[in-house]
Amino acid sequence: MKSPVHRFRDVERQAACLQMEQQQCVSVSKATSAPMWFVRDACGIVCGVITWLLVVYAEFVVLFVMLLPSKNLTYSIVNGTVFNSLAFLALASHFRAMCTDPGAVPKGNATKEYIESLQLKPGQVVYKCPKCCSIKPDRAHHCSVCKRCIRKMDHHCPWVNNCVGENNQKYFVLFTMYIALISLHSLVMVVFHFLYCFEDDWTKCSSFSPPATVILLILLCFEALLFLIFTSVMFGTQVHSICTDETGIERLKGEPARWEKTLCWAAMKSAFGGPLSPSWLNPFSGVSCKRVSNAHAILPQGEIIEEDVIEIPLA
Ligand SMILES: [Zn+2]
Ligand SMILES: [Zn+2]
Repeated sequence: MKSPVHRFRDVERQAACLQMEQQQCVSVSKATSAPMWFVRDACGIVCGVITWLLVVYAEFVVLFVMLLPSKNLTYSIVNGTVFNSLAFLALASHFRAMCTDPGAVPKGNATKEYIESLQLKPGQVVYKCPKCCSIKPDRAHHCSVCKRCIRKMDHHCPWVNNCVGENNQKYFVLFTMYIALISLHSLVMVVFHFLYCFEDDWTKCSSFSPPATVILLILLCFEALLFLIFTSVMFGTQVHSICTDETGIERLKGEPARWEKTLCWAAMKSAFGGPLSPSWLNPFSGVSCKRVSNAHAILPQGEIIEEDVIEIPLA
């Protein structure tokens, strides 16, 4: 009987030679034919609804307090079109990030038949997640909110009520980018509107009373500033994660990388679903070319319990 430490070392030794990652292109129709993914978490649903309400509030102030009462029609049309387009793309990205399977490992697949179907070599080792009874692929992590093991899980984001993983990272990056852009745009418009109201008569620059106008503008100013900082930092962190091929969890753990790191540009193309094109900015285009990891024998994330180490018996 080997001690857990010995087993651990054996596993590490085997890990280096058991890289079985392969690049597979999955057609978009095939990837989207699965039933819609939705996490039933009350806190996440509340946070998701708050996100939509905050965008609706910004939309209301921009349209009814700033643009519609403006005397300059060109200014209103140009800013209205830009703001509404970005807000629509932000909400579409949010929806896609929330309702796309982040890369969940099939629940309860740690069956004898499945392990046999993996056709592992004698002596190879696979790991079973004790919480969802699935065979953990390389770099998968169990999410206690989604109650599933997620491939390349970065973190669980309550604002999109979903995990950010291999399959929906593009939508999350787009969501943070579009929110940062509408925040910046509304901040600029608030500043211009304040200047306009100071120069002009306060009673004419808005269809609301002067105190109501000031309160609505200040609230939007706070909201925009807060979300501009928050989403810009998030956007930068996500792009850095993709470029360095290291998820948020892996960075937090600070362990040396056991996987073969993908180069920055190749990792970006993999995350955004192909070579650089306008579809990178489109939340409706699928991630058509994604990495499918078949590496089950590499050390998974999380604590390893000896009972969950399944070793293929030597022939
Ligand atoms: Zn699990
Ligand atoms: Zn999750």
